[in-house]
Amino acid sequence: MALLEVRNLQVNYGPIQAVKGIDLDVEKGTLVALLGANGAGKTTTLRAITGMVRAYGSVHLGETEILGQRGYKTARMGVNMSPEGRLIFAGLTVEENLKAGAYCIKSAKQYQKNMDRVQELFPILKERRRQQAGTLSGGEQQMLAIGRALMADPEILLLDEPSLGLAPLIIQDIFKTLQAIRSEGTTILMVEQNALATLKIADYGYVLELGKISMHGPASQLVRDERLIEAY
Ligand code: ATP
Repeated sequence: MALLEVRNLQVNYGPIQAVKGIDLDVEKGTLVALLGANGAGKTTTLRAITGMVRAYGSVHLGETEILGQRGYKTARMGVNMSPEGRLIFAGLTVEENLKAGAYCIKSAKQYQKNMDRVQELFPILKERRRQQAGTLSGGEQQMLAIGRALMADPEILLLDEPSLGLAPLIIQDIFKTLQAIRSEGTTILMVEQNALATLKIADYGYVLELGKISMHGPASQLVRDERLIEAY
């Protein structure tokens, strides 16, 4: 059984059906890519999984149905929505942002463990811990957003276009860190437009087109698929 199981997921915005009954599985310990062009429904899918928009179908996290459930279950998924300014708290310091991500962590020992892990993954966040988050570069802000999500020690980390608006070298850096996060055992579901670069680090991929899954398979196969290469 997959850690995250999505079945027949549908989302309507008024008369428009943005997600048209999709199925996807994310196995524990894997990095899964959800690819597709602008407007394909990728962000809407993440929002539906985390309960930010009303959706139909079913979403299981382990044994638990989480669709329509707010609160603690979905809070244990590190949601990291990058397009909207990466949603960091610009007026707070780096350290305060990280602390905010750990709001559901009760034990001081676990908190310190999570903080050490994040600062090891992103040494720049340790160096800049007293700096106002709004003054960080775009890449550093993305690292902070991912780090903050990891502070909750999520069962699954959901990322919405972590590469958006970043320079190629910084993207490489962040993608390398995502591989490290996955090898430490954190499961990742990642939305990206940057298909080929993402498939190089992913285990499995899904391609969304107009609200439907048009292709899926092991990343190593998709990356060689002619239809995909042509489309991107
Ligand atoms: P992008 O990469 O451009 O963010 P996406 O694949 O994430 O694209 P979504 O943002 O999920 O796509 O959008 C899917 C469709 O739903 C689009 O046609 C979009 O215009 C529409 N849509 C998204 N949010 C809303 C909303 N709040 N109200 C109405 N329509 C919406």
